Amino acid sequence: MKRLTASRAALFTKCLYWLRDDALWDEGARGAGAIRGSAVHRFIELYLSGTPGAFALEKCLEGCELDQQDKEDVASMCVAWLNWVEKQEHELAQMLTRHIKTKAGLIEPMYVWDPKTNAARFVGCQQGRAYPDDAVVGGTADFVLIGEDIACIIDWKTCQPFADVPEALEQLLLLALLVRKVHPKVKRFMIATVGIDVREVRMGTFTSVTAMDLAAMERDISLRLRPIMTQSPPQPGAHCYNGFCPARKFCPATSQSMASLVPQEFPTTEGSLIKQQHTLLPVIASDEQADWTFEALKLAGAQLDDIKAALKEYIQARGGMIPRANGKMLGFVEKKGRRSFSNEKAVELLRTKGASDEEIGTLWNTGKAYTELRETKK
Ligand code: SF4
Repeated sequence: MKRLTASRAALFTKCLYWLRDDALWDEGARGAGAIRGSAVHRFIELYLSGTPGAFALEKCLEGCELDQQDKEDVASMCVAWLNWVEKQEHELAQMLTRHIKTKAGLIEPMYVWDPKTNAARFVGCQQGRAYPDDAVVGGTADFVLIGEDIACIIDWKTCQPFADVPEALEQLLLLALLVRKVHPKVKRFMIATVGIDVREVRMGTFTSVTAMDLAAMERDISLRLRPIMTQSPPQPGAHCYNGFCPARKFCPATSQSMASLVPQEFPTTEGSLIKQQHTLLPVIASDEQADWTFEALKLAGAQLDDIKAALKEYIQARGGMIPRANGKMLGFVEKKGRRSFSNEKAVELLRTKGASDEEIGTLWNTGKAYTELRETKK
């Protein structure tokens, strides 16, 4: 069953096609970034449940299919979060410390609501991603504290930039609405996204909304959900990617734009002609399609490489940075390459070769520098 979850609240405001009965979905495999994020969430969950930090760190990495560098990144993010809580500078950190003593908050509570019947309920805590059948609209917050007339809702973001984007706010608002449906006496909602990275913790959204603010959102969702199943054409845009659309691989709008990258008929590298029997799709179902895709990708890939090269050349000719229509800048950012070896083993080896602590320290901070075309804030 297709359902509107809080994590897709922003996508819901832009395109409704993916919720149609006939839209095909593919959740896709989870990349290393998602696995790292889950491990950090697990650490926080264990710590807030009363598990000591060192033990929580060991447990959160159990069974994670991550390389050494990713595991180190998880550990650094957990330590950064722990330091942020222990510093007690932010009121949320103080609230979490009170929770550890009183266990007053809810860790990963799941809420569901059916706008047709207006039935809403609290499903339970730490349910994973298994939504029940009555979850037409559903959401799981990372931490919720319900007070007399105020509720606090927190979402941890382990990819810092995501803590401060409009999509994060939409997600929090839908979570607040679900909490409101279950706790109608609550009149005010403090909503927060907290960005965690390997060095520090930064607040993203931190604001409050009232029950009145959420009433308009509730009406909008109820009205918009009704006609979705049969109508609602695809509305492509940046949200196809930013909103993590689950229908992206199969959506007619994205398939059509992929099809236009390859002509009806084109010569293979061996010189024979190949007809357009397929479209470029990120789903391969047969050897024949794989064979066609391999040839078509060479052509489309070369075209895209040429376009990327032209874009780089254009930006470089203008000093390496140009303004974008959205107010941000597009340009080249110098980055350090990720270490692909074990730090401990490297240090051990350097010591056997007679390197001094100073020399090891210098190497530790050296990575292969490269520039990357990136959108940045002004
Ligand atoms: S890929 Fe884009 S246009 Fe297609 S369903 Fe998803 S959001 Fe809509």
